[in-house]
Amino acid sequence: MPSCGSKILISGASIAGPTLGYWLAEYGFDVEIVERSSEVRGGGYPIDLRGSAMIVADRMGMTDQLRRAHLDIEALTLFDRGGEAIVALRPEEFSGGTQGLDVEVPRGDLAMLLYERTRDRCTYHFNDHVVALDDRGDAVEVEFKSGRRERYLYVIGADGLHSSTRGFALGPEDAFVRHLGYFFIGFTLPNVFGLDREQQVFSTVGRMAGLSSLRSNDRIAALLTVAADEMPSAAERDIDIQRRRFRAHFGEDGWHIPRLLEELDRADDAYCDTVSQIRMPAWSKGRIALTGDAAHAPSFITGQGSSLALAGAYVLAGELARHLDDPAAAFARYETEYRPFAEANQNLAGKRWQFIPTDPESELQRNQRLRESGLPTAPMEQKRAIHNGLEIKD
Ligand SMILES: Cc1cc2nc3c(=O)[nH]c(=O)nc-3n(C[C@H](O)[C@H](O)[C@H](O)COP(=O)(O)OP(=O)(O)OC[C@H]3O[C@@H](n4cnc5c(N)ncnc54)[C@H](O)[C@@H]3O)c2cc1C
Repeated sequence: MPSCGSKILISGASIAGPTLGYWLAEYGFDVEIVERSSEVRGGGYPIDLRGSAMIVADRMGMTDQLRRAHLDIEALTLFDRGGEAIVALRPEEFSGGTQGLDVEVPRGDLAMLLYERTRDRCTYHFNDHVVALDDRGDAVEVEFKSGRRERYLYVIGADGLHSSTRGFALGPEDAFVRHLGYFFIGFTLPNVFGLDREQQVFSTVGRMAGLSSLRSNDRIAALLTVAADEMPSAAERDIDIQRRRFRAHFGEDGWHIPRLLEELDRADDAYCDTVSQIRMPAWSKGRIALTGDAAHAPSFITGQGSSLALAGAYVLAGELARHLDDPAAAFARYETEYRPFAEANQNLAGKRWQFIPTDPESELQRNQRLRESGLPTAPMEQKRAIHNGLEIKD
């Protein structure tokens, strides 16, 4: 072993980072996780864990906790621009999920569960981040914002769509990002609309607003999404700039929109970003690698971001353990094993998203079809096969 022993640094403490930390610690590595925020970040719309990811969660002993946190949404109702209900579906009728096996939990709750599961086996450093990485061949020298300097056997970026680990080691985001043409803002608000284990979606040309019940009936989650030709730059992703932008997009709409916009102004947990994928020819270089959204963000349109993060971290940890101090072999196996599954899930995003019609004609046709048949067009069996498409090895 090099002088840094078995020390591995993970950047990012959301979904992929703690999952990777759990398994690396299980295999005997000494794991540090650095997180830019001062604590585990809450917030985010409910996310689904399905298929192969649920097997990983089960092996982490999290099934009971996840079942308790499961939102158990009974129906998703789609509303047209006039505020009329078009159709009410069971969530798995449009997600391709499996009732009784999948769980849907608020993103922040999942991040907190993972943190609690790993806080005793990994060393966490909040309020800090990497400012320089130097891969010396036998170890990676790291300098942190706090001034700390350390050497690690490996550095793994689990720092999301805008990963700076990726920027340091593999190149700028622009080379790998694929914008899907939408921008979103998410926040929570008091349950002023009286939702009860349900989701509601207002959907019209160029925009949609989703509402979801949370575990406690006091608050709900909102997600506003707009179609956009140009994506805001990092500087324009400022929350106040985006509040104004969303107000301009939805300003004339009825349904619950006026109250939602008022609540957006008050929200202190608003989170906005582009709806984008990361597509990279390689997820590693030398002793530095990526996992989760940093490597293969699929976008929330696929509903698979957190599932991919969990399953990919498991595969990566396994390969690092199998190929002790042979990064080339470990990272090559990680990609061979995981890339086909990650890409198949990314491809679920397709070219058009049925929740945001592009023009009044397609909006009318979609609404008519849903009113008559009550079913979305996407082939659910195919989706289900893709969600379950990774064999989780021991
Ligand atoms: C606050 C928040 C809200 C979200 N809301 C939604 C949502 O509503 N719907 C949805 O589909 N997806 C949402 N996502 C994204 C979703 O969590 C991911 O798509 C998915 O779960 C994959 O997780 P990940 O761990 O790979 O990345 P992420 O969940 O994006 O986590 C990345 C983590 O890295 C941290 N980080 C970033 N840069 C650095 C750095 N330089 N150094 C150290 N740490 C860093 C971030 O603070 C974050 O904790 C949200 C993410 C966050 C952080």
